[in-house]
Amino acid sequence: MSSPFSKSLLRWFDTEKRDLPWKETRDPYKIWISEIILQQTRVAQGLPYYLQFITRFPDVIALANAPQDEVLKLWEGLGYYSRARNLHHTAQLIRDEYNGKFPDTYEEVLALKGIGAYTAAAIMSFAYGKAYPVLDGNVKRVVARYLGIHEAADLPATQKTIMAWLNGEIPKSKADDFNQALLDLGATVCLPQNPLCNVCPVALDCVAQKEELQGLLPVKSKVVKKKDRFFHYFLIIHPAGQILIEQRNSKDIWQGLYQFPMVETNTDKSLKKTEVQAFFEETGFSVGTDGAKID
Ligand code: SF4
Repeated sequence: MSSPFSKSLLRWFDTEKRDLPWKETRDPYKIWISEIILQQTRVAQGLPYYLQFITRFPDVIALANAPQDEVLKLWEGLGYYSRARNLHHTAQLIRDEYNGKFPDTYEEVLALKGIGAYTAAAIMSFAYGKAYPVLDGNVKRVVARYLGIHEAADLPATQKTIMAWLNGEIPKSKADDFNQALLDLGATVCLPQNPLCNVCPVALDCVAQKEELQGLLPVKSKVVKKKDRFFHYFLIIHPAGQILIEQRNSKDIWQGLYQFPMVETNTDKSLKKTEVQAFFEETGFSVGTDGAKID
């Protein structure tokens, strides 16, 4: 039997659900593509990429057989290119080890490269209707506020508590709607700032709403330390007109993408003459430094 939370949420979802193309399909391949695109990307930005991607690669075999450069080209502008490389790698594995059929158990899906617990649960529920709750930042925020959880929501112990509660709430027969409704609620109503509690379907029993704790919950524990990196590019033009580019190979951002040759430093100051000379000595180019900015 459904709980009051689940009932109110699903009733709201019936009228308020967002129309998005990946919600109309049960194809695990398309759901997988949409989930990977949306991992670090807003829906409005990801939508044209999704459409373009599944038009060019309509199934896992088409993606597996494509050259990696073409996959990366279609990904251009989305960022976090390791996602595209993992998609390509995983498509080849599904082609070679699963005869091109997307696996249908949670353990097998979770073992695929680039797929974590959230994406595995999304695929299992949206493609196969299995009762695996999704747990992302939106869901954590909704549940932490609804239950009034004061422990940091990103701690493993808190996530375990939230997951246990979700496992008790998710209805076996409507697992996909339940997951999608929670994601939609977090994205459109239970916003990080100024949540729209006056239109929220679960406001009646929400602890944060009752105790006016929306601004305090969810509690965060970690501050991600950011590092500034400075790339100095060389525009090297051959007398015949060709421009020199290189492929990034190291395990780093933009792996496999093309760029002008460059030097990385830890300051935003222009390269010194000695650094420019060192670059040319290391690379073996026998060209002058005309046009390079030197302090
Ligand atoms: S009542 Fe407000 S704080 Fe509570 S779940 Fe709804 S939107 Fe979020």
